[in-house]
Amino acid sequence: MDVKNTKRVFLGFDMGGTLAKLVYAEKDTVFCKESLDILNFILSTSHYGSSGIRDSHLEVSIPELGKVYFIRFASNRISGAIDLIKKKNLHIGIEILYAVGGGTHKYKALFEKELGVKIVHLDELGSIVKGMVYLLQHVEDECYTIENVANEDGSTIKINKNFGTDNDLFPFLVVNIGTGVSILKVTKANDIERISGTALGGGTFLGLCRLLTNSKKFDEALDLAATGDANSVNMLVKDIYSGECKGLGSDIKHFNLSGDLTASFFAKNIMISNPNENIRKKVSDSDISRALCIMIAQNVTQIALLNAKLHNVFKVFFTGNFLRHNPIASRTIVQNMRRWSELGNLNIEILFFRREGYLGAFGALIQGIERLK
Ligand code: ADP
Repeated sequence: MDVKNTKRVFLGFDMGGTLAKLVYAEKDTVFCKESLDILNFILSTSHYGSSGIRDSHLEVSIPELGKVYFIRFASNRISGAIDLIKKKNLHIGIEILYAVGGGTHKYKALFEKELGVKIVHLDELGSIVKGMVYLLQHVEDECYTIENVANEDGSTIKINKNFGTDNDLFPFLVVNIGTGVSILKVTKANDIERISGTALGGGTFLGLCRLLTNSKKFDEALDLAATGDANSVNMLVKDIYSGECKGLGSDIKHFNLSGDLTASFFAKNIMISNPNENIRKKVSDSDISRALCIMIAQNVTQIALLNAKLHNVFKVFFTGNFLRHNPIASRTIVQNMRRWSELGNLNIEILFFRREGYLGAFGALIQGIERLK
């Protein structure tokens, strides 16, 4: 990719149902004063306005792009973001913003009116895959598998995974857990199909946390979940069969179910005989938050497994910001996928990305640069 001497700002934008993601590449700031102004603003802080955050731990240098920066803010703070951009004159050098996500359609007129920036929409699924494939090819430790998931103390190990050739990589499924969930089948880099999805996604997790607990923020909810006990709200198989599930002869053996498995999420309280008892008092916000997180992750995993079987594709990438700051979800995904794969005699590879929430914005950045060639 040779884009030398172009006086352009290299940005990719993705505005989803919950979060807006911006990826900025510093390449050629030497040629473009406006781009340098943006870089200086980015580097001046790691918090912007009321919800903007620079994920500095994700910054990476790639020879073709220079250093790449990753910023996110709440989609519902778009007006504040536009005001800030205007106030700091950051829009001056940006003629075109390559963008994906529903919010970029919704706010196109506002962007164009307030900032004079032309929004060019790109195909969202294609951008996610473009971002994935580019990162896999250029960043050695981008992709990983997880081991030691049985350890309760959370001492899981991330093992980097690289793909030498296209034959090693394709075909694969992408399970993108954002506000909602989309499942894509990718046969080749430009052969992408949305095959499934579910409306029980990251938005459901956060929405229910806000309704049922005192935590209103995603990171806060997951910090709480870390110390929670999901079994205090979930009905387990052994709650139905017997205390220990031993010596039953047994229905449980017949179904191949261990007594510790969840039979029904959030159903423990229906076992209490007195309907007037204050059941909410018996469980903590941490328990609820953990059970919600596991419920969403387990349900998505089951849908992913069924799609892997249906389409005969046994490499599955889990992406999206629900997996940000969320070892409970990734552990749940790996544990359940491995157990169900073994039961079905399948060998499913389960993979994650370090920049799991920025793939669409990254893909938009790459396509924007390609269009300059
Ligand atoms: P979308 O493009 O639909 O906004 P994302 O991939 O950005 O999807 O994921 C959004 C989900 O990520 C949220 O619904 C929530 O579960 C989770 N999430 C992670 N970090 C945050 C955050 N800082 N604020 C809100 N939700 C977050």
